[in-house]
Amino acid sequence: MKILFDKGTLHRGVADMAAEIEKVYQGRQLTIVGVLTGSVVLLADLIRQIEQPMRVGVIQASSYRGATTERGDLIINSELMLDITGRDVLLVDDIFDTGHTLENVVEKLHEFGPKSVKSAVLLRKKGRQETDYEPDFTAFNIPDEFVVGYGLDYEDMYRNLPYLAALEQEDLDDHDQMKQETHVIKT
Ligand code: 5GP
Ligand code: MG
Ligand code: MG
Repeated sequence: MKILFDKGTLHRGVADMAAEIEKVYQGRQLTIVGVLTGSVVLLADLIRQIEQPMRVGVIQASSYRGATTERGDLIINSELMLDITGRDVLLVDDIFDTGHTLENVVEKLHEFGPKSVKSAVLLRKKGRQETDYEPDFTAFNIPDEFVVGYGLDYEDMYRNLPYLAALEQEDLDDHDQMKQETHVIKT
């Protein structure tokens, strides 16, 4: 794995973003909504660095990409979400890639009549965007590489890495090897 940001760098990036968010929402009560599952690590760190009253909830967004690389349908499940009617909502997600996920989730949130909806992401991949929508707060811009750690997964693993790393071919090989080993049914 190629480490892009170590623990300290991530911490500083999130702290800077928290300070920007505080400036924009001074004196207002925030409702923070994390997009499951990739945002959980960022969400936990970010909310502890914003020193103002807030409500915190989550929303689920998952895309079924299947075996192909085609963009699948995005499934948004708001059943777990708290009431956002008349609220200043800050949506939090791990990474802004093509932009379709965040654009669709923001559109969904507007159905509940919030006062405002802004968004904050840990990462934004340069040159990948396919939408006019842009996040309001971004901690880091990164090159077009597949990254894991700090909440981001590859096949639901690596979310617990305390750093952010780009996966390389040998990591994919190791991953496949590990998968085979753990899926063997022991008799
Ligand atoms: P978008 O809809 O903006 O293309 O993609 C956003 C979602 O795709 C993210 O929330 C994340 O789940 C996934 N994604 C995009 N790029 C990466 C990446 O480099 N690493 C990981 N782990 N997930 C990614
Ligand atoms: Mg996601
Ligand atoms: Mg994922």
